[in-house]
Amino acid sequence: MTLEGKQLIGAQAVSAEGAVIQAVNPATNERLDPGYPAAGKAEVERACELAWAAFDTYRETGLEARATFLETIADEIEAIGEPLIERAVAEAGLPQARIQGERGRTCGQLRLFASVVRAGEWLDVRIDPALPDRQPMPRVDLRQRHVALGPVAVFGASNFPLAFSVAGGDTASALAAGCPVVVKAHSAHPGTSELVGRAIQRAVQKCELPEGVFSLLYGSGREVGQGLVKDSRIKAVGFTGSRSGGTALMAAAQARPEPIPVYAEMSSINPVFLLPEALKSRAAALGEAFVGSLTMGAGQFCTNPGLVIAEKGEGLDAFVAAAGEAVKGAAAQTMLTPGIHEAYSKGVESLVASDKAREVARGPVGEGANQCQAGLFVASAKDFLADEALQAEVFGATSLVVECADQDEVKRVAEHLEGQLTATLQMDDADAETARGLLPILERRAGRVMANGWPTGVEVCHAMVHGGPYPATSDSRTTSVGSAAIHRFLRPVCYQNLPEALLSEALKDGNPAGVSRLVDGKREA
Ligand code: NAP
Repeated sequence: MTLEGKQLIGAQAVSAEGAVIQAVNPATNERLDPGYPAAGKAEVERACELAWAAFDTYRETGLEARATFLETIADEIEAIGEPLIERAVAEAGLPQARIQGERGRTCGQLRLFASVVRAGEWLDVRIDPALPDRQPMPRVDLRQRHVALGPVAVFGASNFPLAFSVAGGDTASALAAGCPVVVKAHSAHPGTSELVGRAIQRAVQKCELPEGVFSLLYGSGREVGQGLVKDSRIKAVGFTGSRSGGTALMAAAQARPEPIPVYAEMSSINPVFLLPEALKSRAAALGEAFVGSLTMGAGQFCTNPGLVIAEKGEGLDAFVAAAGEAVKGAAAQTMLTPGIHEAYSKGVESLVASDKAREVARGPVGEGANQCQAGLFVASAKDFLADEALQAEVFGATSLVVECADQDEVKRVAEHLEGQLTATLQMDDADAETARGLLPILERRAGRVMANGWPTGVEVCHAMVHGGPYPATSDSRTTSVGSAAIHRFLRPVCYQNLPEALLSEALKDGNPAGVSRLVDGKREA
């Protein structure tokens, strides 16, 4: 399949004339063809116009038709075969097996959303039938369902070129909700984006949907991205990336005459709490396993464990010694982009330069370009609490161990943390009371609280929460992974006394759509 370097706007592939975006193979710093001239105002305008034109038709597609569309996208992505894997490996510097796994996850989540759409529970239908004889006042007929918000602007993430990019979780959940999607491709993987974008275009055509259901634009975030977010026809935003990028989009969305929700996933250091009995019984094993999670994917996961918190003592010393040895043996890995590598190197340098952080170990220096050299540092809780620089995210395979005087200090550190995607407890049965004391704090701070696992590896399922208070995300009430992500792009509408003929299938008497409904306060089978 030949890449053309064009914007995919509705059913068309359109040549643009802006500054050329070109992928760089981060393993070699070699430029990859073709160049992608950036979209201008005309292309943004056309994509939004088509998305808006498609909206009313697409949002009323039947459950089966919409589910089939999502499945067709998955089929079309799989049908690309090896060229997709090869291009994503070249653009992201990630191992082939990782990209293959990510393709499976991408298609798996599209199919999960297809099953969610079919089940129809997301409509959250509630019916309170009229009570004409009620005293002292009759009750009107009230029926509620959820409807799609409108066209959604999606920003592909650098660290998941498939699963959180053009056809990733944000796109899948927005399409499932009935929202057309305009993607701003991540500039690090334009070729991968084009391959996946064309797969979606084919699915739109095969399923005979309006062309504006999907468009893909290339260009800088500040121009094309902000242009999209400011367009009055865009009604919500999905974003994964840096805190500065996410907050810029939040500001742009709030400054519109009609502000819109931005679901931005930004910054999280994912604290791991080592409780005393667990440290007593298995400190060395914990140290080794921790480094496995820390160095996975060169640490470029939003759930990377960037912070370890525990009471100081023999157990923690044994953990640090074992983790240090594991870091020394952790091979360097290619990072996603030269920019991410530079930001990582600066973050590590500031830890090295800090007189409050002690270096425990560094991994081997890699050969080749943009190598992530793993690192482990230790600081006292007192210094950590006093120094904001020690609390900053270092996106990559470096972590800081915070030594606390006692469990009260552990709690003070936990209370002090910013919002997180995850919080992890390493605990034995005898740690249950200590864990109970921490739990209310962790619930306030994180979207996912786990015991005896590691935060990397996010299951795509119904119960997952991949979210959390700011700055982990811009809206802690939702998740960006798992089937509940669909709710970000829906809003309730109540229909009062509408004639049966005007009601959608899901709201009609007799439940012809066959969806679960709450009727007069009782769950209908
Ligand atoms: P990024 O720089 O925030 O870029 C993400 C997307 O947002 C890109 O499409 C970018 O466009 C756009 N963008 C950036 N700033 C913008 C602005 N002011 N206005 C409008 N759009 C803007 O993130 P990245 O390139 O993926 O990685 C950089 C850093 O983000 C990492 O070092 C890491 O700290 C963080 N990160 C966090 C996560 C997470 O899951 N929490 C994941 C990945 C990265 P351009 O094409 O112009 O770049």
